[in-house]
Amino acid sequence: MKCSSVAPCGLICDLCYAFQRPKNRCEGCNSSGNKTSYCGKCRIKQCPEKADEYELCNKCAKYPCRIIKNLDKRYSLKYGESAIANLDLIKEKGIRAFIRDRKEEWKCPHCTTLLCVHRTVCQNCGRSRDIGRG
Ligand SMILES: [Zn+2]
Repeated sequence: MKCSSVAPCGLICDLCYAFQRPKNRCEGCNSSGNKTSYCGKCRIKQCPEKADEYELCNKCAKYPCRIIKNLDKRYSLKYGESAIANLDLIKEKGIRAFIRDRKEEWKCPHCTTLLCVHRTVCQNCGRSRDIGRG
């Protein structure tokens, strides 16, 4: 997990099943390599309000806009991960500290493998994750 793993919306690519899968792997929002079709046409990534495509949404004058609020709601309900909470944490403590903390938080407590936001269990040891929706 690196600082460049944080997509403009505040979600962390390393935690995504498409980033973690071995086949047809997505290389992440900020990469120029392979992406899922969904992320390839993301409105947040291509948002004209941003200075460039990498800029985080929390720097925008319109933050939090309707698009990010919708994404946040969907992710919070479905996966227990909030884009807006992430962006607010980054604003508050800086992206390096944010990444350091999230790395620890998303480690499987049983085997230390990085967990996935889209899965309820650890892909390595199969035990259920106790963060997010748990
Ligand atoms: Zn595990």
